[in-house]
Amino acid sequence: MTSASERVLIQSRGGAGAGRLRSAALAALTLLTLAAVVVRQSQAPRDGVAHEFTGFTMGTTYSVKVDERLDADRRAQVRSLIESRLDRIVGLMSTYDSTSELSRFNHRGQTDAVRMAPELIAVMTLARDVSERSGGAFDVTVAPLVNAWGFGPAQRPAHAPAEAELDELRRRVGYRRVFIDGAEGTVAKAHPAMFVDLSAVAKGFAVDQVADALTGAGLERFLVEVGGELKGRGRRADGSPWRVGVERPDWGRGVYRVVELFDEAIATSGDYRNFYDLDGTRYQHIIDPRTGSPAPAHGISVSVIDEAAARADAWATALVVLGPAEGEEVAIREGVAALFVMRSEGGLREVETPAFAARRAKADAGAR
Ligand code: AMP
Ligand code: MG
Repeated sequence: MTSASERVLIQSRGGAGAGRLRSAALAALTLLTLAAVVVRQSQAPRDGVAHEFTGFTMGTTYSVKVDERLDADRRAQVRSLIESRLDRIVGLMSTYDSTSELSRFNHRGQTDAVRMAPELIAVMTLARDVSERSGGAFDVTVAPLVNAWGFGPAQRPAHAPAEAELDELRRRVGYRRVFIDGAEGTVAKAHPAMFVDLSAVAKGFAVDQVADALTGAGLERFLVEVGGELKGRGRRADGSPWRVGVERPDWGRGVYRVVELFDEAIATSGDYRNFYDLDGTRYQHIIDPRTGSPAPAHGISVSVIDEAAARADAWATALVVLGPAEGEEVAIREGVAALFVMRSEGGLREVETPAFAARRAKADAGAR
């Protein structure tokens, strides 16, 4: 469940909350990549933002900055709105909590249609759309493979899994074999042992949900962040836009570039945070469903900007699967606003899709 604090704003992993983070990780979703961080400003309380609400959820941290006057009652109301939204999402989507709605679906061992909460139907429908548009690179049924490669609850394998084992597991993988009936609000699976894991999209979805709750409560100037996925609404009180940093895809861990958000979200995925080396090969946590193995580790980070943080989150993961060449082609074809940052011999190399460049040009004009 979500735990909270208004004391510190944790903006990168490995800080004061790292120990608690590790234990919290077991209690919620498996969310390990943090690639976009709120840019640290110089003074405490960081950047003069009026209020910050922070805490732990989904095995990671969250932070909500509100640049508006809030009295004590209103602060308590905002805090409780944030927590109740996050708790609801964990209660629906956690794969670590065996009583969550999604876990019950996963462990049912049946193929008949099950009624699900509107949030689950919405996020699974969005995920399916990104799966279709990415040619199957994004696939929320990939968990058995994630597990076989040691990135789920199971231990790391001593050797790379054999082809025969991967082929066997792939019989239980495939987003097209999860049937979503939006009108009925039900979901069914083709194979009783299929498993849906929303790790690659749920943080973004949580960001959208919290942002909607705050807008619904009449707030107009805020920045929501869950595990590195962010969404800004309105501008800061001084009229400046919300600024966030995209992290470097290497161990330097600095901010690579600052991006301004105008009523939009940014999500980042990378292959450089969660990996291990085995028999001379580097394996990372994002699986290519087409091969059943981890997508090759290029030293890449992909940031996607979209109105919906959930969609940005899903696409960022999909584009890491596709890698620099194919990813760029698909992102351009699908009109995705993406920034690829890659390690190369001469340092870091970047590619922006036309949609990313166009929104940046618009943002530059709007910022003036
Ligand atoms: P993210 O940090 O949003 O890129 O999500 C990465 C997580 O999503 C991994 O740790 C896996 O649990 C899961 N995952 C791995 N490969 C895929 C994939 N091809 N499609 C969807 N989810 C994936
Ligand atoms: Mg993602």
